[in-house]
Amino acid sequence: MGVKFRGQVGWRFIVRRPPGLEGWTVFLGPQSAFLMLPIGDELAYCYADKASARSIDDPAQGTIERLREKFAAFAGPVPEVLARLGPADPIHFSAIEEVTHPCYGQGRVVLIGDAAHAMSPNMACGAAMAFEDALVLAEIVSRAGAASEVVPEFVRKRSARVGWVHQQTDRRDHLRSLPPTMRDVFVRLLSGRLYRANYRPLLALP
Ligand SMILES: Cc1cc2nc3c(=O)[nH]c(=O)nc-3n(C[C@H](O)[C@H](O)[C@H](O)COP(=O)(O)OP(=O)(O)OC[C@H]3O[C@@H](n4cnc5c(N)ncnc54)[C@H](O)[C@@H]3O)c2cc1C
Repeated sequence: MGVKFRGQVGWRFIVRRPPGLEGWTVFLGPQSAFLMLPIGDELAYCYADKASARSIDDPAQGTIERLREKFAAFAGPVPEVLARLGPADPIHFSAIEEVTHPCYGQGRVVLIGDAAHAMSPNMACGAAMAFEDALVLAEIVSRAGAASEVVPEFVRKRSARVGWVHQQTDRRDHLRSLPPTMRDVFVRLLSGRLYRANYRPLLALP
């Protein structure tokens, strides 16, 4: 089990909901993306990321000025949203990392959620996987005879499904990192099919 830098850094913050934002909306740029999601009538959650050869070694990378600079060429309302951010508005800036070899525990210790299998966020499934882990673990513990049975049973029930999400995540990150002209053709032509292919298998209960 180890942690690997995924070649992206990301900013997360909350803004006033811009006019016209009705649902999950993403803007793709060269090696970068800006996502907005309404949270109630007033506010929107934003997630912006950019490819980076190295993990974060300069905390100034996360400032509002840098954020505005890196996304200045994006279409509206991205620059307007960033212009309204103030120095006191909290911005969470971090490297995007993953757990390289998922580990669900050993002996009497069980790991769930990101501790076991953190991955790049582009499938937006990490929290769902963590909740599922908790439910499945509760079910196993409620009927397991010996503690030593828990980890092997948990691995048996969870590894294929979590592995699927991880694999789709890798594919989506790969698609996103293609040159923009190629990526945009793929996304325009195949986004509906890709979406269904990525998520439909997860409709089967864990
Ligand atoms: C940029 C980004 C966007 C994401 N977007 C989505 C999304 O849209 N949808 C989705 O489903 N998932 C998303 N995820 C993934 C999701 O956030 C995680 O998979 C999920 O939060 C994992 O939950 P967790 O409880 O395992 O871990 P965490 O949420 O990390 O919780 C662990 C908690 O343990 C605490 N802790 C750590 N060490 C100690 C200690 N020694 N003692 C006590 N407490 C400790 C931490 O402070 C933290 O509160 C995203 C992740 C990132 C990075």
